[in-house]
Amino acid sequence: MKTHLVWLRADLRLHDNPALYAACRDPDARVLAVYIATPEQWRLHGMAPRQAAFLLDNLAALRHGLTARGIALHYHQCPDFNASVAWLTDFCRRQQAGALFYNYQYEFNEQRRDRALEQALDGQVICQGFDDGTLLPPGSVRTGDSGMYKVFTPFRNAFLRKLADVDPQCLPAPSRRINAAPDTADGLAPFDYPRQAPGEAYPAGEDVALSRLRTFCHQQMQDYRKMRDIPSQDATSRLSAYLALGVLSPRQCYNRLRSAYPQVLEHADSGAFTWLNELIWRDFYRHLIVAYPALCKHQPFIGWTRHVAWRRDDVLLAAWQQGNTGYPIVDAAMRQMNQTGWMHNRLRMITASFLVKDLLIDWREGERYFISRLIDGDLAANNGGWQWAASTGTDAAPYFRIFNPTTQGRRFDEKGVFIRRWLPELAAVPDSYVHEPHRWPGAGHAGLDYPRPIVDHGSARQTTLAAYQAAKNLGLSSGTG
Ligand code: FAD
Repeated sequence: MKTHLVWLRADLRLHDNPALYAACRDPDARVLAVYIATPEQWRLHGMAPRQAAFLLDNLAALRHGLTARGIALHYHQCPDFNASVAWLTDFCRRQQAGALFYNYQYEFNEQRRDRALEQALDGQVICQGFDDGTLLPPGSVRTGDSGMYKVFTPFRNAFLRKLADVDPQCLPAPSRRINAAPDTADGLAPFDYPRQAPGEAYPAGEDVALSRLRTFCHQQMQDYRKMRDIPSQDATSRLSAYLALGVLSPRQCYNRLRSAYPQVLEHADSGAFTWLNELIWRDFYRHLIVAYPALCKHQPFIGWTRHVAWRRDDVLLAAWQQGNTGYPIVDAAMRQMNQTGWMHNRLRMITASFLVKDLLIDWREGERYFISRLIDGDLAANNGGWQWAASTGTDAAPYFRIFNPTTQGRRFDEKGVFIRRWLPELAAVPDSYVHEPHRWPGAGHAGLDYPRPIVDHGSARQTTLAAYQAAKNLGLSSGTG
């Protein structure tokens, strides 16, 4: 009997899973699934313990679904990618697998691992890889001279044209196998990794993700454009954690969106189009890491920004990390992420800008810290977001655009509803002072226990502008501009 092996990685779902679907196409084949946890590799990548726990919970849910379809999930832990290649090569041999199916991962280390595996299998097992994890495959949206777009808007325009042509459909979940493989005795032992519960906001499983997607599309989408920047409102989908682990696919998002709003592509000012735009940003960053693998190694896209003389200051960095900067919108956001593993997009932009442009701390410190805390940590989106905020990336904010954290707070959390939720110590501060509590005349009387601003925004702005300008001059004179 033929044995097909499906190697699950960042695609923890039954529905719309190209590798799983292809492995199951032959009704006579015995299909086995395998998942290899690599805790040492995760440590190297700085993965958040909360995300690792969420992964384990989703794996347990997926195992249940696979077993019901007669597909046994084999689970193994080994330290890193190298060890996983050795183990999987041996596993293929022991199981006498004829073919190995997997969905591509686009990050540098992951691609290198897959090449090493193909070499190790040396043609003895047929490897079949599939594009997944994006709406359109990386490399498929190209400029006139076959390059990768560096600016989002033209990328999006070309992307939309291609999307209308391709119209990506979702694949069904496999049906129950005739040759059901008996369930394995391998328990899902906890990962050898620090554990932090994902929290009630993140129940595991693709059923949950699909139902959240449905509810969002039918009940919240209309207001998305208007409300998505207001962090006190529950106005965004909160699907990023599911998308990051592949519990949900972007094609499922797109198709659900299309079925709820068939005219989405024609109404650029609608909530539905605005949401699709975010999914395209997600694809953009993924396409970029494939076109420019140096991004995976945390290199800036714009050469001269290498010369910025970053400040090394552990006290300031810790104040930012812990939400003790004295800027309420920044502190509330950091505490939201520290306590829940998720942060609102507008706040990711504000906190990132604050670290880089108010504290002049290297954006890579922030990139690392976010990944170590986020339940939706994703190399491409996180790197893209940080390089955007730091003005080091492709189509990034220009370096002289510096958010004023107080103004941003007033604009997006006018009455301090979000701020007070995460900074209860500011409960008694009147609305008119909630963005600058140090100016509140009643602070002393009320015994306000909240830090004064750790930097003065006005002078920090001047210092940063000068540092970027000096770096740019240096870059131009040394030819690294
Ligand atoms: P929604 O508003 O409902 O958007 C739908 C989906 O589109 C999201 O789930 C996400 O997959 C995608 N998306 C939305 N905005 C963006 C964006 N700007 N860039 C790329 N994809 C987007 N997103 C991550 O998934 N993982 C990260 O590690 C991550 N780090 C970020 C770091 C910084 C500094 C910044 C500025 C943004 C980062 N983002 C990241 C993007 C964005 O903040 C989150 O995707 C979004 O807040 C998730 O909430 P949601 O699911 O409710 O989003």
